[in-house]
Amino acid sequence: MQDSQEVRAMLDRIGEFRNESLTDFSLSKNEIAFELALGQVISDIGRKHPLLIGGEEVYTGQTLKSTNPARPREVIGVFSRAGAVEAGSAIEAAGEAFESWSRTPTTERAAILLRAAELMRARRHELSAWMVYEVGKNWVEADADTVEAIDFLEYYARQMLELELVQVIQAPGERDTLHYIPLGVGAVIPPWNFPLAILVGMSSAAIVAGNTIVLKPASDAPKIAWEYARILGEAGLPPGVCNLLTGPGGVAGETLVDHPRTRFIAFTGSKEVGLRIHTRAARPRPGQNWIKRTILEMGGKGAVIVDETADLDAAATGILVSAFGYQGQKCSAGSRAILVDEIYDTLLEKILEQAPEMLTIGDPARREHTLGPVVSQRQYETVLDYIEVGKREGQLLYGGKAPDRDGYYIEPTIFGGVSPDARIAQEEIFGPVLAVIKARDWQHAIEIANSTEFGLTGAYYSTDPERLAYARREFHVGNLYFNRKCTGALVGIHPFGGFNMSGTDSKAGGPDYLLLFTQAKSIAEKLPE
Ligand code: NDP
Repeated sequence: MQDSQEVRAMLDRIGEFRNESLTDFSLSKNEIAFELALGQVISDIGRKHPLLIGGEEVYTGQTLKSTNPARPREVIGVFSRAGAVEAGSAIEAAGEAFESWSRTPTTERAAILLRAAELMRARRHELSAWMVYEVGKNWVEADADTVEAIDFLEYYARQMLELELVQVIQAPGERDTLHYIPLGVGAVIPPWNFPLAILVGMSSAAIVAGNTIVLKPASDAPKIAWEYARILGEAGLPPGVCNLLTGPGGVAGETLVDHPRTRFIAFTGSKEVGLRIHTRAARPRPGQNWIKRTILEMGGKGAVIVDETADLDAAATGILVSAFGYQGQKCSAGSRAILVDEIYDTLLEKILEQAPEMLTIGDPARREHTLGPVVSQRQYETVLDYIEVGKREGQLLYGGKAPDRDGYYIEPTIFGGVSPDARIAQEEIFGPVLAVIKARDWQHAIEIANSTEFGLTGAYYSTDPERLAYARREFHVGNLYFNRKCTGALVGIHPFGGFNMSGTDSKAGGPDYLLLFTQAKSIAEKLPE
């Protein structure tokens, strides 16, 4: 608990939060700088990396390789594979570090996040270049990922300072205050699809609130996690506050979830794993003194609705960007387009007209390619299986094949005439596959949009204010957009998180997020008469 004046002084000094700007690659100086970063990074691939436990580098006998999905034989880095023993040690190390970190003044904790943001700014193209090679992001998507990570650091540093300001409640004869204190040791388990932004968002929120963590990155994206851990160290984060544990989710991750010393689990990933974590975390283990808190953000089946009053050219672009950005591997992806009968044929024609120019497939290290490979062999096989299902359930209108080349490339694929209850309209595919569905009218379209088990994102293109007002109430998603794409939530502007089976609606990048990593302590002091 820190003196409010110090906290206020820091808030005044650092000023308000502002979103970092995206890089304008049409400027040749930026294009050259990014090319240079790609060249620099590629000369550094294939290195061996240890686990980081309590500030020590730990090499295990077994390894895990991160490879480039555009050239699967290219090894990006070799990582130590943690098992249950290392996971236990990492939790113990976090437990030890908690004693001092939880008592470190909030201004110091926030300052470390701000220094980390500064270091990321300085290395921004380098970080983005790693994501191009490690997970197949194109330049723009990789840049947006890095920018979002910087935003999270800047935003949560300020939010924690705001929370630290002591709230005094005036009751006669008493001084009553409310303080937000940390929870303890947390397991932070991110996915590979926003390998920097989500990992930084969840971990920095936990850390700045005074918790210590074990960060277990996705096995498809350990390199970018390693670069982040290095930055935290350079920014002055004490050993043991963020322990880096690369290793399989089923072993390393599950040990973290089950451990009695674990106080909370922040997870983003699939519904199946999220629910498994939820169930396991609910069971108290011997020696466990608390109910574990779970913050779970899971899958989606986003819908873009278009009615007959909409600007159809803008809607066609919005549908393509929402469905195929980062090869459709976004939880927010608009993998369903729901078009009202009256404009169904016209809009479909526009979509198919715009697709070839917007969706150019190839090595994402080259700027002209908008679509790279999907992330892994597993993802490649799953998506191709869904395309076969789609051929039975709808009419294949575009794409549908895997180009005959090295790398996990899949053509952007569009199915028309899909029934709302078809598998490709209900299940999260997490790849470049769009299901186009016909609705009788705009209300029927909203009904269809709400008919999956998910509730993450949705967009509605319409110029009718009454219909938009109805959609505000009835379109049941955590992030709703009107007359724009359903991806690209901005930190501080579009707090992000979903309903139903999309998760616990944690609203990352919003003013309430840090509360999830704290508990509130109310203190009443009777004053002398
Ligand atoms: P997974 O659920 O497969 O994995 C997510 C993380 O959980 C990984 O670090 C993984 O490790 C780990 N993990 C796997 N099994 C276990 C286990 N039994 N116990 C503990 N941890 C485990 O998801 P993906 O990485 O494939 O990510 C894609 C999913 O993420 C999609 O469903 C997408 O919608 C969702 N997502 C949701 C977002 C949201 O905000 N709602 C945002 C972004 C993505 P390992 O890699 O080693 O298996």
